[in-house]
Amino acid sequence: MAGLYGAQMHRTPPARRARSRQTRHRALAVVLLAATVTSACSSMTAGTATPGTTMHTSAGAKPSSSATSTTTAEPAPGITVPSTAAQPNAASGEPDGAQGTIGDAGIGDPYYPLSGNGGYQIDSYDIDLKYDPDSNALSSTAKLTGTVTSDEGLTQFNLDLQPTMTVTGVDVNGAPATFEQQDAELVISPAELVAAQGALVVEVAYAGEPDLIQGGTLGSDSGWYRTDSGGAIVIGEPYSASSWYPVNEHPADTATFAVTATVPQEWQVISNGIRQTDGLPDPGAGNAVFRWALSDPVASYLTTLYIDKFDVVEGKLADGKPIVSAIAPDANDDARQLADSTGQILDVLSGYFGPYPFEAAGGIFTGLNTGYALETATRPVYGGGPIASFETVVHELAHQWYGDDVTVQRWSDICLNECFASYAPWLYDAQVNKTDLDAQWKQQMNSLVNQPRFWRSPLVDMGAGEEFTRVYDRGPLALHALRAEIGDDAFFRLLKEWPATYGGKNASFDELEQFVNTLAGRDVTPFMDAWFRGTTVPDEQFRYPGNLGN
Ligand SMILES: [Zn+2]
Repeated sequence: MAGLYGAQMHRTPPARRARSRQTRHRALAVVLLAATVTSACSSMTAGTATPGTTMHTSAGAKPSSSATSTTTAEPAPGITVPSTAAQPNAASGEPDGAQGTIGDAGIGDPYYPLSGNGGYQIDSYDIDLKYDPDSNALSSTAKLTGTVTSDEGLTQFNLDLQPTMTVTGVDVNGAPATFEQQDAELVISPAELVAAQGALVVEVAYAGEPDLIQGGTLGSDSGWYRTDSGGAIVIGEPYSASSWYPVNEHPADTATFAVTATVPQEWQVISNGIRQTDGLPDPGAGNAVFRWALSDPVASYLTTLYIDKFDVVEGKLADGKPIVSAIAPDANDDARQLADSTGQILDVLSGYFGPYPFEAAGGIFTGLNTGYALETATRPVYGGGPIASFETVVHELAHQWYGDDVTVQRWSDICLNECFASYAPWLYDAQVNKTDLDAQWKQQMNSLVNQPRFWRSPLVDMGAGEEFTRVYDRGPLALHALRAEIGDDAFFRLLKEWPATYGGKNASFDELEQFVNTLAGRDVTPFMDAWFRGTTVPDEQFRYPGNLGN
């Protein structure tokens, strides 16, 4: 993600996250901590009970959040997952007489305790939807294919889906399941225990009028945006997918993604990956159908859908992979020029980061006043106005390696994405424009070294709601300092070997630090602590490493 530097980057307090999730976080905190949470703990929406449901619910508390469970993801080394996020709780327990466990309502990320879910992991999403831009009516069937990871098997599990969507039916492994919507959690009870390590195929039928999830990062909303031309587009971090399909909504669970979208024939649809034209369903009279598929697993916030009357710009990367970009009717005047630069920018970045990791590339250039751009996989989305700059395009394309191919394990590791993507324009400028990066670094340091506020927020473990702040400006300073500390050889090996090693996987900042130590051939941890984890300007012994001290 990139925001309007300086203008909007620093004003997102934790309180501005999604309203529905926030109130539920508070409810959970009150229930499990009996702590100093002060408000809104009683505002959880009662679920839409389905006739015949056999959910084990209790008023107020989310039943599945306190279930006996096995969480899907191992916490990254060095990251402590509080007991509120993942610990079993005997309150709701196992259904009487049944084996198996209830999957947790969160995947175990302390920053967003209800993001994602426990007990299973998803390998692929396949969405088949109809959308009418005139009425904003969406109806859809989502097929999720995955595996149960709970050692006991599952008797109940959750998906994340915003309450603007009403679920009408759920099948698990081919059999109808009971279900209940509790705000943004879809709680599913299969007819039979789904065995440990067993295949999990979930089909969800739902409909509604998708909407924004209030209060996302950077002070902006996220989810389902309407465009001025009457279309729609989905973007948002840390969540957005749940605004239009049921999902295990956390980057720790990556999956492949495909969407078939039927729309009135005057509209077009673009999404991630490659457009498919074979074997499409009959869209019916007056309609058009589009299918897009991404065969590499990505985090769900990197999936997008854009429905509008846009221009398509096509090209090819040097290796022949297709570049497909969409230009909105109200996009900036230079959007086409930026779209045309995609191949050249990826060429330069490939020189630093290694082969481009996906099967296709491109961008979606909107006229939206989002205040941010997002690195949606293969096809980043750019807002209108000043956000759609050349530097932003370099930043979002760098994310294809750093953030999209290598995925964060926890949101506290966001520097793995944003520090590197924010350093990419430096690298680009050094190669293409012969910028003296040392001079640039010294100039910035001179103006910042005596500003304690700048150093207060660390680049790792910065706290929920603070992820998207200093990573954009302190991040590149820290990386350039690291380069001077370990030398160009080791640093450029890092830039290439990190995606080569962790591409297609989740990674933590701890793992990056170990990687750096290995490449440097010595323990650089004190330096890394000073630059990435410290809350003051780095001590003098670390402040001007290598040639930056001259
Ligand atoms: Zn970014």
